[in-house]
Amino acid sequence: MKKLSGIILDALLPPRCPVCRTRIVEHGHLCGKCWAALEPIADPKCTRCSLPFAHESDGLICGACISKPPNFDHAFTPVLYADKGRSLVLALKHGGLFAAAPAMARMMATPVRTSNHLEYDMLVPVPLHRFRLLARRFNQSQLLASALEQELGIHSQNFGLIRSKATPSQATLDRSKRFKNVRSAFSISQNKTNVFQGKRILLVDDVLTTGATASACAKTLKKAGALSVDVVAFARVGQPVTG
Ligand SMILES: [Zn+2]
Ligand SMILES: [Zn+2]
Repeated sequence: MKKLSGIILDALLPPRCPVCRTRIVEHGHLCGKCWAALEPIADPKCTRCSLPFAHESDGLICGACISKPPNFDHAFTPVLYADKGRSLVLALKHGGLFAAAPAMARMMATPVRTSNHLEYDMLVPVPLHRFRLLARRFNQSQLLASALEQELGIHSQNFGLIRSKATPSQATLDRSKRFKNVRSAFSISQNKTNVFQGKRILLVDDVLTTGATASACAKTLKKAGALSVDVVAFARVGQPVTG
């Protein structure tokens, strides 16, 4: 309730940067200084998982995607998970900085709009397990998906994909353990078994690290009949996680 009244108050008060509280012209943006401190992910990068490459000659697809292709088709990740990009993700996830979601969604929408990829039928946020949702009281991916809904004009299907298995945090795991950890963590809600049939889906998450979570979600969605699954995440870890 306190958080909700905070959001309403924020919308009524003069617009401020959600990160540093500097006065800005319009709600839903960052100030110029915070915006400039983000590190955009530019080409060259892996065309599949958006991993930034050091050199133009590194090819089109990264080694990880060649050895274990993800179940999603393409990933859009506008910002590097470092410094201010990392702070924003953590502020939304752990600090409940809801006011940051519209600004983050605006940045996420840009590469989706400018890509040559197919149009999407629905957004699907990466779900939290209900225990974690109870503890945190909100799902940061769902907040981003709701903000993206406004940006892209695509409906967000929030209840079809569920996290049926409570898995330990991925944070301390190496690459192969991350894939194993989430392998059968997701399923489709019993009363939503047909909603993904023939649909082109844009999966929404806050961070992409190895892509293990997004890949497990995409596998479940494709098994439920999805035609294609792309991913949009605000930030991407720039170093490949190995092991
Ligand atoms: Zn700022
Ligand atoms: Zn890749």
